[in-house]
Amino acid sequence: MQTKENIEIIFNYLNELYPNPQCELKYETPFQLLIAVILSAQCTDKRVNEVTPKLFAKYPTANELAVADLQDVENIIRPLGFFRNKAKAIVNCSKQLVENFNGQVVNDVEKLQKLSGVGRKTANVVTAEAFGADNIGVDTHIFRVSHRLDLSQGKTPYEVELDLVSALDGRQKNVDHFLLVLFGRYHCKAIKPNCENCKLTSICKFYQEKAKNQ
Ligand code: SF4
Repeated sequence: MQTKENIEIIFNYLNELYPNPQCELKYETPFQLLIAVILSAQCTDKRVNEVTPKLFAKYPTANELAVADLQDVENIIRPLGFFRNKAKAIVNCSKQLVENFNGQVVNDVEKLQKLSGVGRKTANVVTAEAFGADNIGVDTHIFRVSHRLDLSQGKTPYEVELDLVSALDGRQKNVDHFLLVLFGRYHCKAIKPNCENCKLTSICKFYQEKAKNQ
């Protein structure tokens, strides 16, 4: 695990690369963010952003999406992978929001996790982005980058989340979350990480091990 000093070095660098880290999904309300995050499973944000303007123009709130014709929703989100399952999930999720929370997204990870299509990562991302909650949603990028930079050696996303919550104690975790996502998405990619142009080589576990084996 990295020292506090190295954690500062890591996040100062990430801040230098991404001075204004933000979620790349387009949305106007916490409800629309929740739906966009559900749709982003196994899919890029760019692709989700291509279908959500039409979806949200027709079904802007949980009340409208809860009573939508499933086939119409399927047709709108058809360009996404798993569109049938996703259509079912977002309509059911909207129904549950209307029935249990007056159609509103609540700032509560445990309650959100009970909704259709919502896992822990989605609940963490939505509460961090929509409400500024001190949460970290561990996606594939954060999982990989955390291991490479030795912020965690957790075997599951939940174990990595717990390690990050502890390692980033006292920091703005909702901001650090997006820094790690952007870093993994554009710089420390799964295949061919950009190590030649990375300022973290001296404290990167992955790079150091690679160098040792060469
Ligand atoms: S040195 Fe390479 S593997 Fe390590 S953080 Fe930088 S880009 Fe990622």
